[in-house]
Amino acid sequence: MHTEYTRCVVVGGGPAGMMAGLLLARQGVEVVVLEKHGDFLRDFRGDTVHPSTLRLMEELGLIHEFLELPHSRVTTISVETPAGRTDFADFSKIGGNYPYIAFMPQWDVLDFLARKAKQYPGFRLIQNAEATELVREGGEVLGVRATTPQGPLELRADVVIAADGRHSAMRSSAGLQPAVSQAPMDVLWFRLSRKPDERLTFLHTAQGFVLITIDRGTYWQMAYVIPQGAYETVQAEGIERLRADVGAVGEGLGARMEEEIRSWDDVKLLTVRVDRLRTWHRPGLLCIGDAAHAMSPAGGVGINLAVQDAVAAARILGPVLRAGRAPSRQDLNKVQKRRELPVRAVQLAQVHMLADLYPKDRQATVERPLAARIVRRFPFLNRWTAWFIGVGLRSEHIGKAAKAGAVGATG
Ligand SMILES: Cc1cc2nc3c(=O)[nH]c(=O)nc-3n(C[C@H](O)[C@H](O)[C@H](O)COP(=O)(O)OP(=O)(O)OC[C@H]3O[C@@H](n4cnc5c(N)ncnc54)[C@H](O)[C@@H]3O)c2cc1C
Repeated sequence: MHTEYTRCVVVGGGPAGMMAGLLLARQGVEVVVLEKHGDFLRDFRGDTVHPSTLRLMEELGLIHEFLELPHSRVTTISVETPAGRTDFADFSKIGGNYPYIAFMPQWDVLDFLARKAKQYPGFRLIQNAEATELVREGGEVLGVRATTPQGPLELRADVVIAADGRHSAMRSSAGLQPAVSQAPMDVLWFRLSRKPDERLTFLHTAQGFVLITIDRGTYWQMAYVIPQGAYETVQAEGIERLRADVGAVGEGLGARMEEEIRSWDDVKLLTVRVDRLRTWHRPGLLCIGDAAHAMSPAGGVGINLAVQDAVAAARILGPVLRAGRAPSRQDLNKVQKRRELPVRAVQLAQVHMLADLYPKDRQATVERPLAARIVRRFPFLNRWTAWFIGVGLRSEHIGKAAKAGAVGATG
């Protein structure tokens, strides 16, 4: 096994890992990101870029280039129930330069972050590199072992950032166990072609399902939300019911469902998981993003919270690493302390406050979700729902060192 040393190893090149890598490298910290896949191509992995993330791109001086990536913009989240339509969240009212959600393929976002990070000499991304276990000594994490295209690698570092997602192997290797909440639903994802200028309400509720329609320009990205654990039942009901349910939501959709959704192979199941670590760290290790807290897809907040974690981690740990020290337990705990409140607040909203927005069984109709009823009664609240989703509590800022961003950049 080949052994190397660096200041920080980030395991996982998702939104949390790539942002952490970029921000540390901008501060002049030597950092290696290990990503087990050879590219960033992943379908239905969440493509929502919220105002909070757009503002970070502005702070980094990258916003103009970032917004040149293909994307569509959503300013209102509307909910259509049998009781009527409600504009549940209106981003145009939250102020600031980015009053919308940008829908942008996640691989484009990750490619962009990787390209920017590679301009810093201290940054290295190794793809097709899977971290298999932590290197530990006396309860302290000293690095990771990984399989790489060049053979087995032991990478020692002053800190390991586990950003390896909701099934984090690094978290397990450290003996950290998340507390799991009852996830309120599962989701079936699929695409359907879109006619030019076709409009659909963002969220429909009906008998036994909720349909979310995301405008991706040439196609609709559809989320057919079903009761938790109901996938087998849904399959047993037949693909015809899925086609009919979606067909009833908009004119012409039925025919397209027949043509384009030929079998269950055209549909991808997301088993929703909502969990949270009690302690996000061990000496020498910090978990961020989904590795610390898997979110429900409600509100499309997963990516954005992962990015916010990365910003807090880089702002707090960057100066410590740059000063040549290994982050202490207190440093690692500062990151958790900073980020735990927003995560708890969002999970609370996803699991409890929106609970009656999700179908309980395949017969029940979601008629009048409380949250939608409240906003219907007091429409001015849709500014605050948009703020909570798009910006949220404790919105992070890049910090002076990463903002300056001049540490050895090339290109
Ligand atoms: C189907 C689906 C749809 C979703 N929809 C949305 C949405 O619309 N909006 C939204 O905001 N969120 C959505 N999410 C959630 C969102 O994708 C996550 O919250 C977000 O990606 C978390 O970012 P992360 O960087 O923490 O983890 P991830 O994005 O999971 O990234 C982890 C990375 O680590 C890599 N990795 C894992 N193990 C190892 C290892 N051992 N060694 C090296 N690399 C490793 C993985 O390949 C991956 O690239 C969705 C999730 C899924 C699964």
